[in-house]
Amino acid sequence: MAPTHVLRCCQRGLAWIPVIFIALVVCWSYYAYVVELCIFFLPSVVYLIFFHLSFIMFVWSYWKTIFTKPANPSKEFCLPKAEKERYEKEERPESQQEILWRAATSLPLYTRTGAGAIRYCDRCQVIKPDRCHHCSACDMCVLKMDHHCPWVNNCVGFSNYKFFILFLAYSLLYCLFIAATVLQYFIKFWTNELPDTHAKFHVLFLFFVAAMFCISILSLFSYHLWLVGKNRSTIEAFRAPVFRTGSDKNGFSLGFRKNIAQVFGDQKKYWLLPVFTRFELSSCRCHLLLNCDEFRWILVDFYVNVLKENIKSFF
Ligand SMILES: [Zn+2]
Ligand SMILES: [Zn+2]
Repeated sequence: MAPTHVLRCCQRGLAWIPVIFIALVVCWSYYAYVVELCIFFLPSVVYLIFFHLSFIMFVWSYWKTIFTKPANPSKEFCLPKAEKERYEKEERPESQQEILWRAATSLPLYTRTGAGAIRYCDRCQVIKPDRCHHCSACDMCVLKMDHHCPWVNNCVGFSNYKFFILFLAYSLLYCLFIAATVLQYFIKFWTNELPDTHAKFHVLFLFFVAAMFCISILSLFSYHLWLVGKNRSTIEAFRAPVFRTGSDKNGFSLGFRKNIAQVFGDQKKYWLLPVFTRFELSSCRCHLLLNCDEFRWILVDFYVNVLKENIKSFF
């Protein structure tokens, strides 16, 4: 086996450490809450029912965020074979750009590099669609890339952004529920009112861990809700996308309601479930034509087509 291959395998293995860490913390929290608190210490069916509801939703959305493959640019964005060979032989950047401009005439491309050039990924050898970025950790171009998250060992982007938001929401709910129900026993611990069993240490740590995660998740969750409302990715929040007419941080915004629908779908009954929801074409077209924003419509059309192509891989 080549050394680079071994190194890559090791990197891939090590990348799972944060996920394993979270999984171990969740398993321990389950044991401490269900067995130590609700069965041995203070039998409570109501606590158990609510705990399991938030636990199932949290694990479901976490699972979907981790195991949903990032969506890649479709084959239309690859240069034709002859053009690719010419591009590789060409050494002058201006001539390379000419090849890209010719290939891009039939593509729905509205964003450019900071210098006004066509965005091209040399690594994947593909013209980057709008909002697409190359992830060095995944070594691929990812559609509507938000960021690469080590806690899920996956790229957060077009295919799993909804799952990621729900994962943050349900993990916050899970931690809040634990912290709120354990608080009274946590106070009793410090006033020495708890029976002297080993369960009291689980109670103590449950509160500490839940409160700590609550604070860190709350800030991240609030930030991503703000991004959803603006239809911005984390990358776009740090560096505004550049359009033909110049950079515009609100370039992809369709208005608050449509921005939410772009991530969660337009059927409210599916908003809270980590299942892939379709963004209805008809309502989008109507809205966008009313605003004469043809480029945004084409972009949505492109993403919906990608969705149709990849729909099987999302499940
Ligand atoms: Zn790439
Ligand atoms: Zn990635």
